[in-house]
Amino acid sequence: MLQPVVLAHKSLADYTHIVGRDLIEEIRELAEPLKGRRVVHLSATAFGGGVSEILYTLVPLMRDVGLEVEWQVIYGREEFFNSTKLMHNALQGNPQDLTEEQWHVWRSYNEMNARELSRGWDVCVVHDPQPAALPSLAPEKARAWIWRCHIDISTPNPQTLEQLLPYIQRYPASLFHVQGYVPDGMNGGVNIVPPAIDPLTPKNMALSHDDAVYVCRQFGIDVNRPMICQVSRFDPWKDPLGVIDAYRIVKQSRPDVQLALVGSMASDDPEGWDFYNSTLAHAAGDEDIHILNNFNNVGAIEVNAFQSLADVVVQKSTREGFGLTVSEALWKGRPFIGGDVGGIPLQVTDGVTGYLVRSVGDCAARCLAIIEDPSLGSSLGRQGKEHVRANFLTPRYLRDYLRIFSEVL
Ligand code: UDP
Repeated sequence: MLQPVVLAHKSLADYTHIVGRDLIEEIRELAEPLKGRRVVHLSATAFGGGVSEILYTLVPLMRDVGLEVEWQVIYGREEFFNSTKLMHNALQGNPQDLTEEQWHVWRSYNEMNARELSRGWDVCVVHDPQPAALPSLAPEKARAWIWRCHIDISTPNPQTLEQLLPYIQRYPASLFHVQGYVPDGMNGGVNIVPPAIDPLTPKNMALSHDDAVYVCRQFGIDVNRPMICQVSRFDPWKDPLGVIDAYRIVKQSRPDVQLALVGSMASDDPEGWDFYNSTLAHAAGDEDIHILNNFNNVGAIEVNAFQSLADVVVQKSTREGFGLTVSEALWKGRPFIGGDVGGIPLQVTDGVTGYLVRSVGDCAARCLAIIEDPSLGSSLGRQGKEHVRANFLTPRYLRDYLRIFSEVL
């Protein structure tokens, strides 16, 4: 019932020229005693959003250094994903908690998945709250359990967290992006580990200017006019409506500006389509607002092209676990403006590697300043790229996981 995800092969050696020999050697030393260990990652979806983005890279690299690693997607139906989306929103601060019935749905799907999970794992890494109850229900299926939290739970709905907490307290080890996300009452084993992006995937590999132009033109972008871009799921926390409002302010001074909202739909996100439609309605037929999604053939290369070509990349989130899109944009050396929330300040030093904003007005003012002064943009972009190289590329993330595996085993 749990679906194994089929993965491409990746080789750690290919990353040496990007992150340096020292880190690669450190990884190989850490991996040596872990060779042959059986690890399974469990997540709610293999499609859309940051978790799947990460696992498509991390799991092949864990295999490459000698571990026996699988990634399996838990079984769920609409009623389950309705409950887990509500839980996700509540943990990020939405006042609406799950009903008794919805908690029951969550638990019973966890029971089904706990029964179906095979035995004999050395480590089971559970991603996010959807499958979080598994170690409480079938502790015998893995020697060690790790919970990886990908969301911002710094200001949760207290009732929701209270219900979830007993399940996550059971894990001998957990990973959070920043200290501020760690809930009170964790029993230890807490690790602060931000995620990372893969510089060698089609989404992040170096794309020539001509190729980026070629791709963006196909989607109706006039490459001779300035473009603001946000890449994100259609989700209220990503604030695409605020991005449109900021664009409208910029447009008053720069009538030539265009906006691209590139968004994917995730299979575990039943609200996505409704919010996509609200975003379309908010754009009100403006021909300079391009709203694209993965059902219009916008895949990794297209995301790369938009992020590489944009005059300004924004991520105007009001909550953001980490924001892989931030590192993706910085890695392409683009000037970046992000909401001052969650994992974004970790990646952006205000005024040095980009700008942090708290309002539509600030966002518009910074966009305009960058569009009016391209040299400002290039200096921000250069520093942003080096910050990502030093901190947010996959080999560093792999090293951190291997250290934790060594500790729990
Ligand atoms: N993404 C994509 N196509 C889209 C929108 C998003 O491939 O149209 C990717 C994006 O490039 C990033 C991931 O989805 O790699 C989103 O991760 P992030 O951490 O930014 O946010 P999450 O969706 O996990 O909240």
